Amino acid sequence: MIDVKPVRNVELSLWQKTYYPELLKGLWVTSQHFFRNLGRHVGRALGMKTEPPMVTILYPEVRRPISPRWRGLHRLMRRPDGAPRCVACMMCETACPDKCIYITAGESPDGRVEKFPLAFEIDLLRCCFCGLCVEACPEDAIRMDTGYLELAGYSREEFYLDREFLLRRGEPTTHPQYPGELDGATVHRVDLVKLAKGH
Ligand code: SF4
Ligand code: SF4
Repeated sequence: MIDVKPVRNVELSLWQKTYYPELLKGLWVTSQHFFRNLGRHVGRALGMKTEPPMVTILYPEVRRPISPRWRGLHRLMRRPDGAPRCVACMMCETACPDKCIYITAGESPDGRVEKFPLAFEIDLLRCCFCGLCVEACPEDAIRMDTGYLELAGYSREEFYLDREFLLRRGEPTTHPQYPGELDGATVHRVDLVKLAKGH
């Protein structure tokens, strides 16, 4: 038998029904933060040692620097000749706790390598960004250092990343924040949509 606990509605007083108490409380909290932060900025400007003041970052035009250890969208690395570094060993697929990596191995045309990924797919909506796939890879073929933050979309298909998409993210660019590395800032959701639709 299910135990049901009746919940009584709290009766608001006339003063509370005007919502002024909560409004004033909110303004009080906001003002506290504002004047405390203003004091820190003024203190710093006068050369005093204060707590670091909070700043407003004009995102997306201005971006906070990201730690090199930050894990974002995956990418697949290429060899100098442009071929995927991945040798389809399945280590990442096996290590993935969310089972969101799907690899189909094929025989490599390069005689020095036994296998390569015919298909390499990641279901990003299942991924918990633990980084175990990166840790498990013996070839440094998969990385999560794209610095790409804008993981948003309108459909599930947009988050199903295929081999070509992941390899394109591994191409070097000249982005000032990531010199010689992937330009995470220019990866746009439209790319994801186009790739999902096969354009
Ligand atoms: S980050 Fe973790 S959950 Fe995501 S694909 Fe890699 S191993 Fe799987
Ligand atoms: S990405 Fe690395 S771990 Fe995953 S299949 Fe390729 S070589 Fe193996």
